[in-house]
Amino acid sequence: MIFDPKTFKQHFPLFEQPENRRLVYLDNAATTQKPRPVIDAIRDFYLCSNANTHRSSHRLARRATEMVERVRSQSAAFLHAASAREIVFCRGATEALNLLANSLCSELRAGDEIVISSVEHHANIVPWQMMAQRFQLKLRYVPHTAGIPQFDRLGEVLGERTRIVSLSGGSNALGLRPDLEAIARQLRGRNLHWIVDGAQLAAHERVDVQKVGCDFFVCSAHKFYGPSGIGLLYGRESLLEAMPPWQGGGEMIAEVDLYNSRFAGLPHKFEAGTSSLAAIAGLGAALDFLAVQDRAAMAAHEQQLLQWLHRELAAMPGLQLISQPQHNLGIVAFAPATGSAADLMHWLDERDIAVRVGHHCAQPLIRAAGVAATVRASLAAYNTWENVQLFVEALREYLVETA
Ligand code: PLP
Repeated sequence: MIFDPKTFKQHFPLFEQPENRRLVYLDNAATTQKPRPVIDAIRDFYLCSNANTHRSSHRLARRATEMVERVRSQSAAFLHAASAREIVFCRGATEALNLLANSLCSELRAGDEIVISSVEHHANIVPWQMMAQRFQLKLRYVPHTAGIPQFDRLGEVLGERTRIVSLSGGSNALGLRPDLEAIARQLRGRNLHWIVDGAQLAAHERVDVQKVGCDFFVCSAHKFYGPSGIGLLYGRESLLEAMPPWQGGGEMIAEVDLYNSRFAGLPHKFEAGTSSLAAIAGLGAALDFLAVQDRAAMAAHEQQLLQWLHRELAAMPGLQLISQPQHNLGIVAFAPATGSAADLMHWLDERDIAVRVGHHCAQPLIRAAGVAATVRASLAAYNTWENVQLFVEALREYLVETA
């Protein structure tokens, strides 16, 4: 399999702008750059098809509605859902998780339990904490060592009252990619709902929700070369049917009278208000774009860069490497042994190398790792060998200068 990152990179006009020609963009776990078809689709929507969907029935509105429903079908194919009715458009993974937390927890009884892990993004912690407080539910964590969950011990926190298990499909702070098959085996036959936070996973691997066997899966288009402001919630049809809606408003109703409303069917009952229509058009273009790429080759390229980076950084005495190279979606996380991570980030920024520094919306994990903040370099398929070599050389130079 031959994958040429330089050819792939040519799809991304941001890198052709004069001020970005030297840019080494290693902040892909935060968001990816957009290929030309995605940018064009957003512009074309406003130029040619802009109208509100589902409500009006004139020509433009019909065209916009058809586009939205076509992208829903594409999204179902992208995640290998059984039907487009199982796809709900959300603002992103955060909104999808809030939808699930609010809808599912409103049906639970005091004392019921929710299991999450210490490696979760705040989007998969805070909504459950809020629901636990509101409905007197109990939050439990997968056993962990220094913040790293031991998913093979998941069974130890599953009990009679466990109703929801919501776990990362890939950590944005460490890249850690749990073995979803092994998790599925531990959950099989239990009376609970399993949610996979696939915000990072969907960017690096083909997802097959039916094969994974989860009940719900969430992701954000902006992590896989699509626009921001649009994400996907997959849910098994029978479960979504039974769940109460979260937000009320237009679009999600069948009939409204003064004191009561009947809700629309799936998936519209979960899509109150006007969606990010141009972003949906951009999502459709991103899915078309990905459909013709060799995703296995893209992932293999990312893994080669990742393994090389881990080896190089592990050999630098001035750095404390926090991430592990195994089962990693494409993230190197580390802290300088002396000085601040923020100083290092600024120093890299002055050399046109974009990395992220901080807690990466995973404060419990970073705290458990015993550092105040990490520097995170996160890869995408357009990162070249030159990119990672420049990054490593810059790190070496920094360590010499600050020794
Ligand atoms: N979950 C994970 C693992 C993430 O990495 C992110 C974003 O970084 C989110 C959830 C939230 O995604 P969004 O900000 O697109 O809603």
